[in-house]
Amino acid sequence: MDYMSTRGGASGVKSAEAILKGLAPDGGLFVPDEMPHIDKAFLDELKDMDYMGRACSVLRLFLTDYDDEEIKGCVERAYGGGKFDTVDIAPVMTDCSFPILELWHGPTSAFKDMALQLLSQLMTTAMKKTGEKSQILILAATSGDTGKAALCGFQDVPGTKILTFYPKGGVAKMQELQMVTQKGANTGVLAVEGNFDDAQAGVKSIFADKVLAGKLLENNVKLSSANSINWGRLAPQIVYYFSAYTDLLRSGRIKDGESVDFVVPTGNFGDILAGFYAKKMGLPVGRLVCASNRNNVLTDFLNTGIYDRKRDFYKTISPSMDILVSSNLERLLWYMTDDTAIVKRWMTELAENGSYDVGAEVLDKIKDTFSAGCADDERTKAVIREVYEKEDYVLDPHTAVAWAVAEDYSKANKGRCVTVLSTASPYKFCQSVLEAVGENVDNKDTFYMLDRLSDINRYHVPAGLAALRTAEVLHSDSCRKEEMPDMVLDFAQR
Ligand SMILES: *Cc1c(COP(=O)(O)O)cnc(C)c1O
Repeated sequence: MDYMSTRGGASGVKSAEAILKGLAPDGGLFVPDEMPHIDKAFLDELKDMDYMGRACSVLRLFLTDYDDEEIKGCVERAYGGGKFDTVDIAPVMTDCSFPILELWHGPTSAFKDMALQLLSQLMTTAMKKTGEKSQILILAATSGDTGKAALCGFQDVPGTKILTFYPKGGVAKMQELQMVTQKGANTGVLAVEGNFDDAQAGVKSIFADKVLAGKLLENNVKLSSANSINWGRLAPQIVYYFSAYTDLLRSGRIKDGESVDFVVPTGNFGDILAGFYAKKMGLPVGRLVCASNRNNVLTDFLNTGIYDRKRDFYKTISPSMDILVSSNLERLLWYMTDDTAIVKRWMTELAENGSYDVGAEVLDKIKDTFSAGCADDERTKAVIREVYEKEDYVLDPHTAVAWAVAEDYSKANKGRCVTVLSTASPYKFCQSVLEAVGENVDNKDTFYMLDRLSDINRYHVPAGLAALRTAEVLHSDSCRKEEMPDMVLDFAQR
């Protein structure tokens, strides 16, 4: 199996190279040029495996240039060693009214660990395979969750360094603490004076800076990115759909062959797109339901076929879904049209005019598989309170958005197994969660809120968050946006 660009400018690329490059040279995204298919025997085997076994079985179908030993090594280093707080890695909780696929048991308590723990391993293995002799420097701009998960995924991984920029004062206190206490000799964290867009624009221009690239190469360093369009982030996410399905089978919640609908809290469309791959491979996935917060550009797109990012941007209590351009949607468009020229045209229209229209035929095809819904902050908080009171389960705000959409969806689609993907631990968003359940947290500090939430939540505080109370601050530098390239060079030479 080889990889090609959704915009037609690259083909015959091995998965190792696609993972090292991240983005195709023509600006498109890498997609596999064929789709592996599974059968019932494959699922029967998976049913009796642990998560790591399942990951190996699914990943080897896509990473055909990695041998089985390489994949096994990557998977064990990513998910083994006690870094996840349950051996199930991604357990399905079945004692609430919807089964909940919990994706936040990794070291940073957010679903991004599922992909970033493995991406670093896939990248370093790819470097060995392609004979890459340079050191890889990962740059990331973050509005919260990605930065910490990327730092943690690359911490002390040989042959790599990672530098993360976050907007000073622009991330939650807990998220900032998670980053500035990051250990690892190869990690760097800088606060940028400005907002998230400044930090992101700064990173983007560094990637385009040929002079800087030359200087870095003199130091034997090449830049790479860990953002969610990398195939090495998407592939690991396909695994948990298989794992969830076979867990539901094993628990007797569904029968052989019965289809499951998944409701996914969505931002960049990576998580839900992995479900689409699982379905294309033959996993009995019914509908994929895209859940958005007030930034509901995807709800509108999936209902009208018009993608229009020319709209107000809202800061919500589910910040990881505050996105107006969902990059991974480009891959879906390629599957729906099988036409790189059309995809390229729509992406050009999006860049130049801020919108594109896929037309009725493509929209109908998308609607065969996808549904969509959204929930604002008020509804999100009401759901957190209701589920806590009625089901004794504490949802984080991102998962609560999905729960709200799942309620609406299941009312109109009775009798189906509707599973909700849970993307963050509620402890990462203590303030919003406590307010939702009716606590007064005015002027309370972060750790007071952590303790308070642990009083009412039946699940323990994740070790990574509990340790922040006494963790030493190791990164306290900040810079102006114009200084970012110098900071990168400086960090590369360290
Ligand atoms: C990143 C993130 C999402 C959105 O996932 P996408 O793959 O970007 O759609 C949802 N919830 C949380 C907590 C996240 O960190």
